[in-house]
Amino acid sequence: VNVDLRHIPVKRLIDKKAYEVPVLSINTTGQRILSIPTQIGCPVKCKFCVSSEQPFGRNLTADEMVRLVTAHAPGEPFLLSFTGEGEVTANIPNVTKVVEQLSRSGLPIGGLRFSTSGLAPWRIKELPTHQYLTELQISLHAADLEKRANIMCDTPHALYLATYVSLCEEKFCNIRINYVLQAGLNDSEDDIAGLAAWGDRKWSITLNPLLTSNGAIVHERVDEIADQLRAAGRMVHVFKSVGQELCDADIYTNLTYKS
Ligand code: SF4
Repeated sequence: VNVDLRHIPVKRLIDKKAYEVPVLSINTTGQRILSIPTQIGCPVKCKFCVSSEQPFGRNLTADEMVRLVTAHAPGEPFLLSFTGEGEVTANIPNVTKVVEQLSRSGLPIGGLRFSTSGLAPWRIKELPTHQYLTELQISLHAADLEKRANIMCDTPHALYLATYVSLCEEKFCNIRINYVLQAGLNDSEDDIAGLAAWGDRKWSITLNPLLTSNGAIVHERVDEIADQLRAAGRMVHVFKSVGQELCDADIYTNLTYKS
């Protein structure tokens, strides 16, 4: 994977003296991805995420998100990714308007991607796919319910997440489980066994490093854990270098809330 750092990061002032939000334009091999936020701050408050250090701001409006996309859209086909700051299921009406408006814009959108922590899992079925091939990413981070609730403070409905995703999985061309692997937090034998058994085996698992403003912390046993998951029949991707490059580009220190 190549990350085109010339397009990272971009700070945008949404209104005169209000907020800054990050927009990522990533050029991977064979695919351009434009990642935008859906909220300012995030109500989920994952303990490992810099967003949780700031108070939750508000939903981005549809117009604000459309402006972010039109300002940064590459001239070639790209994947429009609602995977930036915020919880997408908490802002579905505006995200729906964005997809509808952009589908008429003539921009070369080749597909959509959504990321959810499962804050409102019953709303996943409402995510707008329009005519696009659409990917769903689930931020899991722990399969054990108690542990997950501890890591991701405001996800009381995680218990039902796999069921809700299963109920609407035909909407999505691809479903991925995101797992930020952290030593001593979610890497025990039980944690990995729980991850291997979570959801449908068709859903692939992405093991991510912990991104901090001081760099990416790649779990020292990530390759061994990936092999363990593969042996259990799961499809696994391991991300190491992309995370490091994003940290080097200092993007995560740009998640700045200005009230
Ligand atoms: S859901 Fe995403 S943006 Fe929100 S706190 Fe968790 S990792 Fe951060």
